[in-house]
Amino acid sequence: MATTRIPLPQPSRPPATTPGDHAARVAALARLHAEVSACVRCVAAGFIPKARPIFRGAIGNRVMVVGQAPAALTHEQPAPYSGASGRTLRAWLARAGFDDGALHGRFYLTSLTKCFPGPSTGGKGDRAPSAAEVALCRGHLDREVALVQPELVLALGRLAATALLGPAPLAELVGTLRPAERAGHPFLVLSLPHPSGVSRWLNEAANRARHEAALALLAEERVRREL
Ligand code: SF4
Repeated sequence: MATTRIPLPQPSRPPATTPGDHAARVAALARLHAEVSACVRCVAAGFIPKARPIFRGAIGNRVMVVGQAPAALTHEQPAPYSGASGRTLRAWLARAGFDDGALHGRFYLTSLTKCFPGPSTGGKGDRAPSAAEVALCRGHLDREVALVQPELVLALGRLAATALLGPAPLAELVGTLRPAERAGHPFLVLSLPHPSGVSRWLNEAANRARHEAALALLAEERVRREL
């Protein structure tokens, strides 16, 4: 399947910052992480019984992964994407030429909502966070983007992709690289299906071709940007 070419800004690293700027961003991100770790907005609003925000990353991470919400397993493990979804995602990244340490060593890992939303009422997989929960957590993601200033964002699943790019079927987004902006910071979005085993999206041959095209685009960006 041919990849969709959309006019894009030339690959460029974020503008050079002074050591003082860098130190200020590091300190601001540490403050934000402390603030998010203490956040109980969704508990206060009655959406979840307990807040346990999960995220990981640092200033200098050039790739940001935005999922829809953490999985339950990550509550017992300190890092996001430590379970089955993480293994699948690492395998996809390996197909795009990334080394195995990239995901947890060089990528900023976050999601639309930072707390496990609970199991789905249908009994399969996790509940997708509601629009109201995404709205409650939006400010956290905006501040992460503004401080980390990623060049490339990997959006996992329809919810994350459309939150960053606007409403569209996932089939229109996977296999494309699109410019986006959050909190005044521009970046490129590469959409992928959700790596959860519950997702049936990759069962269709046409979607598997879109996924292959997305990984080929990701491999190109890895080389062009020396990620
Ligand atoms: S999901 Fe976000 S807004 Fe809701 S309690 Fe967790 S950190 Fe706070």
